Amino acid sequence: MFVVGVTGGIGSGKTTVTDLFKAHGITIVDADVIARHIMDTGSPALAAVEQRFGTEALHDNGSLNRAWLRERIFNHPEDKQWLNDLTHPLIREQLLRELEAATSPYVILSAPLLVENRLTSLCDRVLVVDVSEATQIERTLMRDDVSKAQVQAIIEAQATRQQRLDAADNVIHNDGDRSLLVNQVEKLHEIYLRLADTNTP
Ligand code: ATP
Repeated sequence: MFVVGVTGGIGSGKTTVTDLFKAHGITIVDADVIARHIMDTGSPALAAVEQRFGTEALHDNGSLNRAWLRERIFNHPEDKQWLNDLTHPLIREQLLRELEAATSPYVILSAPLLVENRLTSLCDRVLVVDVSEATQIERTLMRDDVSKAQVQAIIEAQATRQQRLDAADNVIHNDGDRSLLVNQVEKLHEIYLRLADTNTP
C-alpha cells in the first residue's frame, strides 16, 4: 500500500485538505480519531488509566475525562511519558490495520504529530499543510473555544514549522483562500496516483 502522510500544526487545515482527497475517493486514516477510540469506555487502555489515576480521570458515566487527563499530563511529564508508552503502540497497531485494509489506489495517513511521533517511517511520501503562525492562531481561535495563550502553548509543544518542512516531500500552502486548495490537491492527487501505480509490484 502506498501511504501519503499528511501533517501540519494545529489549525493548519489538515482536515480541510484531507476532505478534498476524500472527494477523490481516497481513504483517510486519521491518527486523531484512532487515538480517541482506543480510550473508548470499556477499553483496556481506559482501564489502565483508571488504575493509575483513579476515578478522578473518568466522568460519572465511566467515559474518559479528557480535559482532566490533558491538564494532568501537561503538569506531570512522567504521567505524559506513561500515557505515551501506553497509547503509542496501540495507536500504531490500529493505524497499520486500517492502512492495510484500505482499498483506494493510495491511502492517506493524517496525523498532527506525524513528525514528532516518527510516523513518517510508515509513509512513502510526506505532505505538509503549511501556514504562518498568525494564520494558525487566527483560525484556531475562530474554530475552538480557547485562548490565544492556549493556542500558543500548543504550537510551542508541537514540532516547529521548519522541522515539519524539513520532513516534507510536498507542501500545500494554506494561508490563502480555501478555493486555492482545490487545484493544489488535484495536482498532488495525480502525482500520488502515478507514484502508487509505479510502486505496485
Ligand atoms: P487541528 O489539527 O487543529 O484539528 P486541522 O489542521 O485539521 O486542525 P482544519 O480543521 O482543517 O485544520 O482547519 C482549521 C480551521 O480553519 C477550520 O475551521 C477550517 O474550516 C478553517 N480553514 C481551513 N483552511 C482555510 C482557508 N484556506 N481559509 C479559511 N479558513 C480555513
